[in-house]
Amino acid sequence: MSNQLILVLNCGSSSLKAALIDHASGELILSCLAEKLTSNDAFVTFKYFEHPHVQPIDRRSWFVGKSDGEKHQIEMGENNDHKSVVQALLDELKAHDLHTMIKAIGHRAVHAGEKYNSSVLVDDNVIAALEECIPLAPLHNPANLIGIRAAQEVFPDLPNVCVFDTAFHQTLPEYAYTYAVPQELYKKYGFRRYGFHGTSFRYVAPTAAELLGKDVNNCSMVIAHLGNGASVCAVKNGQSVDTSMGITPLEGLVMGTRSGDVDASAYPFLAENAGMDIKQVNDLLNKKSGLLGISGLSNDCRTLQEAAAEGHEGAKLALEVMTYRLAKYIAAMSIATGGIDALVFTGGIGENSDLVRSKTVARLRSMGLEIDEAANQDVRFGKAGFISPKGKTPAVLVVPTNEERMIAIDTARLAKL
Ligand code: ADP
Repeated sequence: MSNQLILVLNCGSSSLKAALIDHASGELILSCLAEKLTSNDAFVTFKYFEHPHVQPIDRRSWFVGKSDGEKHQIEMGENNDHKSVVQALLDELKAHDLHTMIKAIGHRAVHAGEKYNSSVLVDDNVIAALEECIPLAPLHNPANLIGIRAAQEVFPDLPNVCVFDTAFHQTLPEYAYTYAVPQELYKKYGFRRYGFHGTSFRYVAPTAAELLGKDVNNCSMVIAHLGNGASVCAVKNGQSVDTSMGITPLEGLVMGTRSGDVDASAYPFLAENAGMDIKQVNDLLNKKSGLLGISGLSNDCRTLQEAAAEGHEGAKLALEVMTYRLAKYIAAMSIATGGIDALVFTGGIGENSDLVRSKTVARLRSMGLEIDEAANQDVRFGKAGFISPKGKTPAVLVVPTNEERMIAIDTARLAKL
């Protein structure tokens, strides 16, 4: 090990992922996953990977000598917000004397408008830019800021780097990012499509190309990143040429709590008929809609799959609406690339839900897409591979995303390690 570790923080809307990565080898030393945040079921799982510098301590015999990583779970109870998780993570690092080897901290940042088109070292201006952009990403930017501030408090001498989700989509052609509204709105306010999940797409595209045996700069694919937030991206020759999210992460697919596309006249309709003001409508579409809104049960895909199997009508409808919209978007994105070599699934749902993959691809037979059900069952829980019949083109692939690795690479470069 190089003694140069990078701590990567990825604060999502209801989850926080952290990774401690050895800069020289790219080796993952510790991962941390907090799920169901802001609910009473919230928990954090720490997973250590075998490493000579990770010193076991008596009360934590759970990770000693296991090359595949041992897990240690903490229920968060009432302290279930992002900040509490960051604190728990830092306590964990200190307990193993790992915090002294950390040389830089990389943060997944969601939205900076047109202020930054690539990763950047954090200073007061960057913090101010993230704050200014909270209206553009109301679920994510506050979580990112909590992560950055917590990191700055505990490691005041370390450089922090922001890696923006929007940066990968700066290659969108003008006709793909332009909204059909008066253009002074773009010129004055930057009102245009930005797209998100860019760090994930930037990692997944070359990995998928490698599996296909193709040069990423000479192939086309549609990538579906399906987590609590979800978007699709058309990638042609390694560049983003279109994507489903827009000026905010609300547009496009049906998500955990976000509606995705709705008629923009929903705003006056709901104001006039339901007496809602703009804040209430925004709250409704961002926090109470999507899988949660349709099912009336949960935003969590796993929970809905279980409920649907037991006959819950709302859960069944939520999964139908979600996969139908997804299939339509995948077909639309294949127009942006002029045909595809592969459809690639990633994100918590894309990597694990054979049901969502199977229901989606079943609607895409006219594109020549097909699933091999045995492979679909097999390629889950962190595995990468083909889930289409052998030799079939376009192929259907699963590639687990690794935004943390991508962020660590940018962080090391900007921190000049
Ligand atoms: P985030 O956008 O918060 O990072 P993730 O990428 O972690 O989200 O994805 C979370 C989603 O993945 C949740 O809806 C969860 O239910 C779903 N998921 C995780 N494991 C499974 C599984 N085995 N089957 C179905 N869905 C799953």
